[in-house]
Amino acid sequence: MESFSMSLNDEQRTIQEWVHGFAVSAMRPIAHEWDEREETPWSFIRAAADTGIYSFDFFANAYADPTGLTLMVALEELAWGDAGLCMSIMGSTLAVAGLLAAGTPEQQMEWIPACFGTPSDPQVAAFCVSEADAGSDVSSLRTRAGYDEATDEWVLDGTKTWITNGGIAAVHVVVATVDPSLGSRGQASFVVPAGTPGLRMGRKFQKMGIRASHTAEVVLEGCRVPGHLLLGGKEQLDERFARAREGVRSSQQAAMATFELSRPAVGAQALGIARAAYEYALDHAKERVQFGRPIIENQSIAFALADMAISIESARLLVWRAAWMAAQRLPFTKGEGSMAKLAASEAAVSVTDKAIQIVGGFGYTRDCPVEQWHRDAKIYTIFEGTSEIQRLIIARSISGLKIR
Ligand SMILES: Cc1cc2nc3c(=O)[nH]c(=O)nc-3n(C[C@H](O)[C@H](O)[C@H](O)COP(=O)(O)OP(=O)(O)OC[C@H]3O[C@@H](n4cnc5c(N)ncnc54)[C@H](O)[C@@H]3O)c2cc1C
Repeated sequence: MESFSMSLNDEQRTIQEWVHGFAVSAMRPIAHEWDEREETPWSFIRAAADTGIYSFDFFANAYADPTGLTLMVALEELAWGDAGLCMSIMGSTLAVAGLLAAGTPEQQMEWIPACFGTPSDPQVAAFCVSEADAGSDVSSLRTRAGYDEATDEWVLDGTKTWITNGGIAAVHVVVATVDPSLGSRGQASFVVPAGTPGLRMGRKFQKMGIRASHTAEVVLEGCRVPGHLLLGGKEQLDERFARAREGVRSSQQAAMATFELSRPAVGAQALGIARAAYEYALDHAKERVQFGRPIIENQSIAFALADMAISIESARLLVWRAAWMAAQRLPFTKGEGSMAKLAASEAAVSVTDKAIQIVGGFGYTRDCPVEQWHRDAKIYTIFEGTSEIQRLIIARSISGLKIR
């Protein structure tokens, strides 16, 4: 087991400085423009791929870090640069987490690199779980996957909603119900490559924040994928279902296992937004003079900044701990992944709110980045499990009871 350290090692610090430099030079200057345009920022995605920040190699190296912190550090810097642009590249990693959670080693080798494309031809990927009637309640998915034995193909039918990169992705990882009588244990994940007949983008959503990130419906109509695109393979699925029918408690459902893996990473992004707003508000409070003195000399402003700093620093400790535990393959026995995501996302909302208050009227205008950061922060308490669902997971973990 890698021992715990409170300081980053030389390699992690180098990566932090490199990604921070990219955020300063390639993200901050275009953040406002892409927020207003609300389109997929392909020129930015290409720039990120060109520098190597958006690539399979970068992800694989960061993922291989035995302390688990490299990816957290990089994500915090990218979201500090701009959360929407960050999501336009890092949204793909949710599909990667889906492949890591359910795929065989061969499937992972084939499909994880495809989620990123190549430096000269970058691609994005999507993880498709949510449906109109199945948001927090992922056990009630209506999308069906039926097996056609004659052709060894799976046939997918249903509509996924609010999907990051939905319909524009090179790789869609789709979670569907195979055996409805088994509830969430009757689900399986499938790779649906771009261009598969029967897969199309539905409505594209207009959002409050992270507007450079594409969010849309994914419609599957008689969408046929070859048998080898069932993640984990048919034999494993049949065995899993047989155990479920006998009432044997199995490991988590595919969607939940994926979210457990990705929660510290979501928290790291929320931290980046919070830190951006805190730094801006701190600078502003030192410069802005009212009643003949900088506003920071008033305790109400200085204490607000102190509270902002505390919530960021404490959330970062939870994010780093959860990432470290995940890298050590230690189980989250107290909902540690949920604690990290919850603390960081709620810190982002409250810190950006306080930052607007400290900046005052200018902070409420679109000329000021804290206005956008507050809009961007809000999604972090909603996607990949709302704050209420995180509390539910933590409460169930610490009590051992089926809290509702
Ligand atoms: C920008 C964006 C990107 C997204 N990207 C993806 C993606 O890539 N892939 C994907 O699959 N999904 C994605 N989602 C969907 C997201 O994960 C869901 O919106 C989220 O899980 C919540 O589901 P819901 O919106 O249906 O809300 P609901 O489940 O309807 O919840 C509404 C409210 O009820 C509360 N609630 C529900 N159940 C309980 C309970 N048991 N106890 C207490 N409170 C409860 C919730 O906390 C919430 O406050 C995305 C959403 C957005 C907005």
